[in-house]
Amino acid sequence: MGTICPKCGKLNDDAKDEICPHCGVLYAKARQAQKQQLRQDAQREEEIEEVRELWAFLVRHPVIGISMVLAILAGGVAMFSYESGSYVADQRAMTGEAERACENHIRTVAQRPSTVRFHVSGLQAQVQDSGSVVTNHVFSAENMLGVRIRSRARCTVGPDGRVQSFSSTQQ
Ligand SMILES: [Zn+2]
Repeated sequence: MGTICPKCGKLNDDAKDEICPHCGVLYAKARQAQKQQLRQDAQREEEIEEVRELWAFLVRHPVIGISMVLAILAGGVAMFSYESGSYVADQRAMTGEAERACENHIRTVAQRPSTVRFHVSGLQAQVQDSGSVVTNHVFSAENMLGVRIRSRARCTVGPDGRVQSFSSTQQ
């Protein structure tokens, strides 16, 4: 009795041979590969069958199909708005923190800290790519003579919340 090669399909009359004399493949290896291929084919067939069944079900139940699509879309939209919402909240927290840091700094350099007043309309803050925040403040404060002077200040606050640079000019 001979052996039929799993790879090339040719007959080998000598059953004791472990290697195919026609294509040179090791029979054991060729059988292993064949088994694996069969397993993969069966798995793919099963997956295709599942998709086919799901599709057939959705065609028979279009309302459920449409609901599923809508649910997936709604999930995506909800996820997106949650992420952009938390991004905005992060930015707001960062700029708020930087504004407080700069306001505190302005009070420490003012001649009469208790007289410092901030003008909300002059407030601006922008987050830089570096993670620092640049803020602009308009404020007024009394000098040593009790004269109220209006100034504009610009701060750079690092990601650690510390004021990295500060400048102010009288207006
Ligand atoms: Zn062969």
